[in-house]
Amino acid sequence: MDFALPKEFELRMRSQLGAEYEDYAESLSAPPPVSIRFNHDKINNIPEEDKVQWESQGCYLAQRPQFTLDPLLHSGAYYVQEASSMFVGYAFCQLYDNQPDIRVLDLCAAPGGKSTHLASLLGKNGLLVSNEVINSRVSILSENLSKWGIPNVVITNNDPSDFERFSGFFDVVAVDAPCSGEGLFRREPAAVAEWSVDNTRICAQRQQRIIADIWPAIKPGGYLIYSTCTFCPAEDEENMAWIKNTFAADNVRFNLPDEWKISEIEKEGCVGYRFIQHKTRGEGFFCCVFQKNGGNVFNISKQKVKQQLQQASKQIVTELKTYISDDYDVDFFLKNDAAIAIPKEIVTDCKMLIDSLKVVKTGVPVAKIFGNKIVPEHDLAMSWILNKNKFEKVDLSLQEALRYLHRDNIFGECSKNGYILLTYNDLPLGFVKNIGSRWNNLYPQNWKIRMKIEL
Ligand code: SAM
Repeated sequence: MDFALPKEFELRMRSQLGAEYEDYAESLSAPPPVSIRFNHDKINNIPEEDKVQWESQGCYLAQRPQFTLDPLLHSGAYYVQEASSMFVGYAFCQLYDNQPDIRVLDLCAAPGGKSTHLASLLGKNGLLVSNEVINSRVSILSENLSKWGIPNVVITNNDPSDFERFSGFFDVVAVDAPCSGEGLFRREPAAVAEWSVDNTRICAQRQQRIIADIWPAIKPGGYLIYSTCTFCPAEDEENMAWIKNTFAADNVRFNLPDEWKISEIEKEGCVGYRFIQHKTRGEGFFCCVFQKNGGNVFNISKQKVKQQLQQASKQIVTELKTYISDDYDVDFFLKNDAAIAIPKEIVTDCKMLIDSLKVVKTGVPVAKIFGNKIVPEHDLAMSWILNKNKFEKVDLSLQEALRYLHRDNIFGECSKNGYILLTYNDLPLGFVKNIGSRWNNLYPQNWKIRMKIEL
């Protein structure tokens, strides 16, 4: 281990783990496993070897590649996600298996690991509200969700208490709480430097405040998935017992195979699941689930909503419809010069969310409209709703793809002028505009690869 553990942390872990402590301490010297989760809406030939046991789309890599230099990452083919935290997806699947029209709130969402995961599990008909309270973290959340391609998402930038109007609205609320980060010590030594007993107390109280604020938003019979990446009992099992004792909540248990080596933590009749490095193949993590057994039912017909979305004209709609795959039924709206596509199933919900919350993005920005000119947006290239046959496509080599992502000038063969969809391994990377003598690179300026690339 290249770092010293804080003394008080070590003492507490010795008393928590007993004879297992030495194994735990030794595990902190081993390299953290590297894992990714595939986007099955974009890619289906995923490797079969070395899979994460609790997630069919997750697998471990033998070593950490230079992810920035893999165009597939930028096309949203996969997300680099710590294996233990994929358990939130496992929990969700146990609660709702392919059920349509589920409303999910990911309350503490940036940078987007759980949101991209829940998006894939929700399917086409559900609604994902992906919320991040800290303003400066919203742009990375938005970028990751754009790349993932989910159309049925609303990104918000609100405090948990702002969801007051949505009493009884959500089937699932995921609270991946800000925590003391003890489970990340071996991967992020900075977490060791920030650790203190006082901070664990502050975290535990903040977690209770977050849960108390958001609990009313869960509908009767709906679920809270609470998770942290710490081992601190005050933030984990004591908060689990607090939830049971404070709200009308039934603890949900899972039947986990022994070989997953996930520890069951019992407290006051509740069970939570702990991932610890000397046992489970992943970083430290804790998760528990509750079903709400009472409370308000949200009455959508009683809601008064100000009309904030401007309907697009017939002419624009006719053209934009050609951009969208036949598998999706969307409505188009205008926001300033941007046309956005929102899946029909979630339009009413979106209007209500826009009316009450600080909504950063709804649905898919499809194009910019300048008079009669329609300029396709990068989000469209990334989205599951894209009609890939609408645009002429050019598949790039690795070198060309990296130059495109670096926002260099690239130029290639194509038959007509106008917008060209660039792909890598057949997956969309973004647009260029062919003006005959050159291609204008339309890759978003603030997403470009900044590292020097040796080609
Ligand atoms: N779920 C994310 C993922 O899988 O990528 C990681 C979430 S991280 C563990 C916790 C998040 O909670 C951070 O993005 C942090 O900004 C946010 N947060 C911090 N204070 C908060 C508060 N008082 N209420 C809600 N969220 C908060």
